[in-house]
Amino acid sequence: MDRRHFVTSTTLGGGSLLVHPHLLANVSPTTKQVPSIENGFPLAISTWNNIEASQVAGENLEKNIDALTAAVQGVAVEEADKTNRTVGYGGAPDRSGKVTLDACVMNARGNCGSVMAVENIVHVAALAKDVMEKTPHVILSGNGARKFAIQQGYKVIDLLTDQSRRLWLEWLQKEHYKPVINAGHHDTIGMLCIDKSNDISGVCSTSGLAYKMEGRIGDSPIIGSGLFVDNEIGGAVATGLGEEVIKTVGSFLVVELIRQGFSPQESCQKAIERIVKGRKNLDFQVAYLAVNKKGDIGAYSIHKGFTYALYKKGQTLEIQSNSVY
Ligand code: ASP
Repeated sequence: MDRRHFVTSTTLGGGSLLVHPHLLANVSPTTKQVPSIENGFPLAISTWNNIEASQVAGENLEKNIDALTAAVQGVAVEEADKTNRTVGYGGAPDRSGKVTLDACVMNARGNCGSVMAVENIVHVAALAKDVMEKTPHVILSGNGARKFAIQQGYKVIDLLTDQSRRLWLEWLQKEHYKPVINAGHHDTIGMLCIDKSNDISGVCSTSGLAYKMEGRIGDSPIIGSGLFVDNEIGGAVATGLGEEVIKTVGSFLVVELIRQGFSPQESCQKAIERIVKGRKNLDFQVAYLAVNKKGDIGAYSIHKGFTYALYKKGQTLEIQSNSVY
């Protein structure tokens, strides 16, 4: 089944709520088709329709696994999925045909790790966690990150699939670069988890923009841009055109707005407004997803079409975000 097709749809506040059919299969007939979403934890949220990833993270949280480990394991589902052309194995290459992955993690103690432009390693979120836990550094990039991964026992594989190679060769025929709103060019997985101890952690993992210039790094592995967590306040993740997120230090901004007393929803909206204000050319997408310490969730994007996957009480739901346009 196409990962973007869903059978059940209803409304939740201002946004639409979609229930993934696969995950409804085990729901007893007496359970409402669309459960109410309440505050609280454990919970796992992730950008886009990464249903399986949030479900895996959520099930881990139920087993009392800590928020960061749960999130890394959830994100690993997408990293290993070769049909996801924006994360991990099967991710779209840069213009030169190289698949280079970016990821970062941040835990409840404010520690973080990041890897940038890594080739041949699938599970870069786990690698970023290893950078955080096993090195004196926060960021490793390129060949150094790859070497560290090999030392840690990660498998070396060719991340370019036959399909990615074919699409890249087709793209080379035209070679014009323009981000396409909500098309396969986006889908970075950003995930935030709150565990049973009410600790918040987050992960972001991506192959970056399809056909980016060689060496280009987006927001996703940059702490404060693609991801930020403050365990006393909340966490935020970003997806979309990384250059625009970096300019406003987007995820940090969202968390700081929550600190100032705004709800996660208001904070995401204000951070998007910061990008949109005074701009005429808005033919790109940026979206934020955030959660506060209580488990209240916010999501907002420039253009419609952004969705997120919410794991809560055994089920994962896909929820449509509100947007400026
Ligand atoms: N934010 C990612 C980047 O700029 C791409 C995306 O989310 O689609 O690399």
